[in-house]
Amino acid sequence: MMPPEVLGEKFVVRKKVRGRFRIALVYPCSYKVAVSNLGMRIIYHLLNLDERIYCERFTNESDRSLETGSHIREFDLVMFCYQYELDLFEIARWIIKEDLFDKPKIVGGPCVYNPFPLRGLVDYVYLGEAEASLTDFVDSMLAGADADELSRIKGILDLKSLKPSRRAYPNPLNTFLPALQVSSRLSVFGDALLVDVSRGCRWACKFCLGRCVYAPYRERPLDQLVQVIEEGLERGSYESLALISSDLNSYSRLDELLAFIESMLDRGRFRLIAPSIRADTIDERLIELLVKSGEKTITLAPESSEELRHRIGKPFSDEQLIEACKLLKKHGVEKVKLYFMFGLPDETAEDLKSIIKLVSRIKEIGLKLRVSANPFVPKPHTPFEDEVFRDPKELKASLRYLRKELGGILTTDGIRQAFLQAMIARGDEKIGRLILETAKLGEKPSLSLLKKKARELGIDLAQYARYGSENEPWKSLKLS
Ligand code: SF4
Repeated sequence: MMPPEVLGEKFVVRKKVRGRFRIALVYPCSYKVAVSNLGMRIIYHLLNLDERIYCERFTNESDRSLETGSHIREFDLVMFCYQYELDLFEIARWIIKEDLFDKPKIVGGPCVYNPFPLRGLVDYVYLGEAEASLTDFVDSMLAGADADELSRIKGILDLKSLKPSRRAYPNPLNTFLPALQVSSRLSVFGDALLVDVSRGCRWACKFCLGRCVYAPYRERPLDQLVQVIEEGLERGSYESLALISSDLNSYSRLDELLAFIESMLDRGRFRLIAPSIRADTIDERLIELLVKSGEKTITLAPESSEELRHRIGKPFSDEQLIEACKLLKKHGVEKVKLYFMFGLPDETAEDLKSIIKLVSRIKEIGLKLRVSANPFVPKPHTPFEDEVFRDPKELKASLRYLRKELGGILTTDGIRQAFLQAMIARGDEKIGRLILETAKLGEKPSLSLLKKKARELGIDLAQYARYGSENEPWKSLKLS
């Protein structure tokens, strides 16, 4: 992996290594995905505010730190970001390959709310958002605290003792947000300043993990956003500004925020990005600004047919979606990305047909379309946590149908990936052991290799994927 200068990174933290407590912040994915994550940026800069500490980053593309090219075994503490279930394979790979068993390790991110597959791999998980008490954990480690003392910090779950812990999050949401944050043109947003306008979500989609683990809905104060955006764009010269939230249109002071951003756009060029917009609450002024800044693609998530959409907790009609798309077209948006799920509870062939009809109606508006369709995966702690992950054969048939009808505009991560996600999402220690044992073989874990290892260990993979662990261990963890 190339050093930060070659990656074109800005605002990399530079410190002398000697005498400092060294933290390896590992994002077990590609560099492109890692540098696009606001949580990773916040943790990196937050920890580095402390002069006693030097936090450096690792991604899957390098076994050396991005900052100083150090080996991970030279660090005092290893932190893993766990954003996506399949990253567990990579976490296991890191631990085996670099022999990190004797290093203190902590894992945070939305997938730790079923921490049981992580037992035997790491010591602690952090339940919550970093600003609340992650620095307390590091302070206590520096002070030589033992496991018992560490497990008393809010949000810290000791995976050996499993002493109950509560989720830790800042409320009000006015905590540290760096205006000059590490960034690269290689990020999915380009060279962008990322700001989280809000966390949590006002809506109640029954399949959604994010809504559960980032509750309650909280907004950043307008004056903090204004200060960070102004300083970031002026001093940081970012080429883009990405407003991160579950649904930007929910922000109660959106008008004032947009007025300010418009004034900034009049002062200098940058691309405005809004990754999450609900079709039923589209704000015309926001669309105008997005297009004015050069953004011509909008992402909407209809999820399924109108009827099923209502049943899964996203109650807006096809008509509302069509009207939203017409509005986008009117304001100069050229391309719309649509996100769908299939294999939802009670879904029938009629629901899939309705998806096709809806897509062709949107096409008629004259927008370029990209459709992403992936199987529904039941997530722990959501109202759908006890639902079944459909039989992969059935899912394959649904995907074949969608492919046939939609052709080249369809993209998907595929059934295999969803199967593995489902197996881990509601898994337990046995799944953790399976992943660890497979990682020891040193090969890229193919499904056939996993199945072979599972047979040796007496694990029924299909059972885990479809129904989850029969012990449902994650239910012992209370999120509120
Ligand atoms: S609107 Fe989006 S973030 Fe909110 S609950 Fe629904 S899927 Fe989750």
